[in-house]
Amino acid sequence: MTDACIFCRIVAGTIPAQTVAADDRFLAFRDIEPVAPTHVLVIPRTHVASLDAASDEQLAGLLAFVRQVARETGVAESGYRTVINTHRDGGQAVDHLHAHILGARRMTWPPG
Ligand code: 5GP
Ligand code: ZN
Repeated sequence: MTDACIFCRIVAGTIPAQTVAADDRFLAFRDIEPVAPTHVLVIPRTHVASLDAASDEQLAGLLAFVRQVARETGVAESGYRTVINTHRDGGQAVDHLHAHILGARRMTWPPG
């Protein structure tokens, strides 16, 4: 955990979040500024700065958890978008690896 990291503080429980799912390695909670009716963030409990810094095992676990959360929140069948913004040009604002799950509306392409 890094004290400065907002998502580490959510893992620690010092910042409240609307938890959707959790296991011993990952946490899923609602985005504070949702851009879709379903907008969930999935993060590893341990601090990993970005996709670029993650191990293969962390990435595999993260995606498996994303798929499980999509099923549990009811968007798996209708469809959803998984987004991992990485570094400056990717639009990463929080430097703790997270996958966005966006669903319950039709997505457009290309993204902005
Ligand atoms: P990024 O741009 O880094 O991919 O996405 C960061 C996301 O974290 C944004 O969608 C933003 O709304 C969300 N976010 C930032 N701070 C908080 C917070 O304190 N709580 C929650 N639930 N979401 C947050
Ligand atoms: Zn962190």
